[in-house]
Amino acid sequence: MIEVSNISKQVSSAEGTLSILDKINLSLAGGESLAIVGPSGSGKSTLLGILAGLDLPTEGSVSLNGQDITAMDEEGRAAVRAGHVGFVFQSFHLLPGLTALENVALPLELQGDKDALTTAAHYLQRVGLDHRTTHYPRQLSGGEQQRVAVARAFACRPTILFADEPTGNLDTGTGEKINDLLFDLNREEGTTLVLVTHEHNLAARCGQRLVLAAGRQVEESAVKKKPGVKKAVAKKTAVAKPKAKAAAKPKSKAKPKAKAKPKVAANAKAKPKAKPKAKPKAAAKPKAAPKAKARTQGSKR
Ligand code: ADP
Ligand code: MG
Repeated sequence: MIEVSNISKQVSSAEGTLSILDKINLSLAGGESLAIVGPSGSGKSTLLGILAGLDLPTEGSVSLNGQDITAMDEEGRAAVRAGHVGFVFQSFHLLPGLTALENVALPLELQGDKDALTTAAHYLQRVGLDHRTTHYPRQLSGGEQQRVAVARAFACRPTILFADEPTGNLDTGTGEKINDLLFDLNREEGTTLVLVTHEHNLAARCGQRLVLAAGRQVEESAVKKKPGVKKAVAKKTAVAKPKAKAAAKPKSKAKPKAKAKPKVAANAKAKPKAKPKAKPKAAAKPKAAPKAKARTQGSKR
């Protein structure tokens, strides 16, 4: 579902060319989870942006659900983002003038979804905020705001959810609840989860880890057993491919979903509480205004 081949990213600066990412490879099956870890400045956010089609590599390719987004123009990438991609950011990125419910409903409304409010209410309930629907972001705690952001991301039923340090602004206990939500929703909805994190225990919960050091992918086999081992490992550049293979197995299980927009089925299951109306929408989604959503995503960044 995500195939990355030899991605490099360089930018020019006054001092010359700066290499931000150097020959990154990875393969992640549908429904699986990947943690991107590494010290600050190692290129994690840059890589996430490229995987999500928000940025382009200088070299190499990225395929999402079999579509090479690096070969597309911006409009093509926007359509793929609108159809498949959700985001959760460290700083929540809620619109201050909208209530929690309106924040979650907005991207759905931009897609032309007539049941946007019903679906938004369902996902707010799912993240435990049904008693906060009419509150504005400033009236919510950091953890509550991030729960709204998680609800907003999942309400669009992305096949892939990207999260950049989703608990970076939260205390440990609150952060853990957000992490639990991400993994629970990931499982319920069959979403593929790619997250950037500094937290070893969070990285350890992911099926696969990619460790970056100064833009390079470093061997991380030891991380499997002992999450705290990242530093010892950061000297050797190597491709963490073996894992990709191991990960490839479960694919067969998870794949059908990705292909057939399993979301509908996944949602049907995950949605017992939603009012019946909310469901048909899933089917209607793909065609609806991809651009409108793309804009939202862009502005979120
Ligand atoms: P991380 O998320 O791991 O902290 P980033 O991906 O944000 O790292 O950045 C990696 C490095 O690339 C940093 O040194 C950052 O300053 C640099 N960088 C990122 N984007 C640009 C850019 N557009 N121009 C110049 N330098 C950049
Ligand atoms: Mg970052």
